[in-house]
Amino acid sequence: MKVIDISTSVYEGMPVYKNKPEKQPEITTVTNGHVTESRITMDLHTGTHIDSPLHMINEGPGFETVELEKLVGPCKVFDLTKVNDGITSEDLEKLDIQNNDFVLFKTKNSFDKEFNFDFVYLEESGAKFLTEKKIRGVGIDALGVERSQPGHPTHKTLFNHNVIVIEGLRLQDVAEGEYLMVASPLKLVGTDASPARVLLIDGLSV
Ligand SMILES: [Zn+2]
Repeated sequence: MKVIDISTSVYEGMPVYKNKPEKQPEITTVTNGHVTESRITMDLHTGTHIDSPLHMINEGPGFETVELEKLVGPCKVFDLTKVNDGITSEDLEKLDIQNNDFVLFKTKNSFDKEFNFDFVYLEESGAKFLTEKKIRGVGIDALGVERSQPGHPTHKTLFNHNVIVIEGLRLQDVAEGEYLMVASPLKLVGTDASPARVLLIDGLSV
């Protein structure tokens, strides 16, 4: 059994969405005698995280509605490193994607060392294809599942069909194949996202 950590490290100066300074995490540490305590201020969409529908749908469901049962289970990693720009339905048609799958897309993004404004994203046609297949979730190695497309059609298509969205994965060391995924977010209530630790377990079937 091999455990592969596919989460982003969180630290001051880490890559953040569009390099916006206000999205940098800030960690302040106070030491009083032998007691050290730190405080972190960060956007909930920092590094590896899971969105809730509230992120793109006003008054949509908050993070407490994201079901843990959907975050732990089998998943399929697909190698889409040949895709430039957007992942379309055409790119996905040839893949073995079935009802209730959790799919993770490994793209060129996993090899970027800093934020890439031209990151590979999931196009609306790809999102529609996935909802027609009735998958339970999709993860991508970009800090956004789309790049500020007008109206955010990818997010909305996925959220309107109850598809979980994980962003900010690191898949550079992961081969295409099937794994057991354990995605464990914070138990946040009423928020639009939560940071998460996401692990793949190889050699253990469910
Ligand atoms: Zn997000």
